[in-house]
Amino acid sequence: MGPLTRTLKIGIIGFGPFAQFLAKTMIKQGHLLTATSRSDHSGHQGVNFFRDMEEFMGLEHDVILICTSILSASEVIKSIPFHRLKKPTLFADVLSVKEYPRQLLLQEVPEDSDLVCTHPMFGPESGRDGWRDLTFMYERVRVRDDDLCSSFLTIFECEGCKMLEMSCEEHDRLAAESQFLTHTIGRILSEMEIMNTPIDTKGFEKLVQVKETTMRDSFDLYSGLFIHNRFAKQQLKNLESAVQRVKGILEARMNKGDEQKCDQ
Ligand code: NAP
Repeated sequence: MGPLTRTLKIGIIGFGPFAQFLAKTMIKQGHLLTATSRSDHSGHQGVNFFRDMEEFMGLEHDVILICTSILSASEVIKSIPFHRLKKPTLFADVLSVKEYPRQLLLQEVPEDSDLVCTHPMFGPESGRDGWRDLTFMYERVRVRDDDLCSSFLTIFECEGCKMLEMSCEEHDRLAAESQFLTHTIGRILSEMEIMNTPIDTKGFEKLVQVKETTMRDSFDLYSGLFIHNRFAKQQLKNLESAVQRVKGILEARMNKGDEQKCDQ
């Protein structure tokens, strides 16, 4: 059987670069989109934008998708006027850390509404030419309306995403080892102001690419990956001690070379 297709009324909270990127595909698939955000993002074709969160929450939505920055998530989620909900709704988020919004949403979202925490492991750069074979991680945190949740997940499935169900805790552990490390290396390379040279190796070209891709994301996003992922602190320590170890190995080898010269 093919994936379930159903037109969804999707309300987006936080209409920044990533939400706008997701919205394009959702509109293409025929879903009906509304959005609200701190700044005025009105004027996007196919998206009905509301400055007023009360008015936005008074609309009939099937899904409310939280796309705000990690750093603002607590303030934004706690300020949602949930009492305006017309009916039980599926709440979903796309934050790049997962235990943190899971906890916040479990605390704040009314008991009769469902909850799915997700992380599309791609962005406007890597997903520019489509989402085929790109990974989409999710945890069904509190799902009673299976059809609705599946219809929402189908948005990603039918674009060819690799759907991966995993706990938010497991996500954060793995993301610290992979995504946070990549962003940290990218930020370090940027601090070092690395640039292409006329004699670039393929390896160095890739490093410049990592730096450039990383720097396109906001610093809010990067610092969120550190502050709200409990596994990231250890990863930063691992990186620091690995640099020290490699430096130590090089210095030891250099000193050994000096000793050999003295012995001759
Ligand atoms: P971001 O810098 O992480 O978030 C920008 C969004 O946060 C905008 O909607 C912005 O609202 C809102 N925001 C920031 N500070 C706020 C505050 N103090 N109060 C209220 N709203 C605030 O950039 P992003 O790339 O668009 O990412 C959005 C979310 O998607 C993040 O949680 C990120 O982790 C996740 N994500 C991003 C990617 C990616 O490739 N970029 C991939 C997967 C998941 P205004 O624009 O209205 O000011």
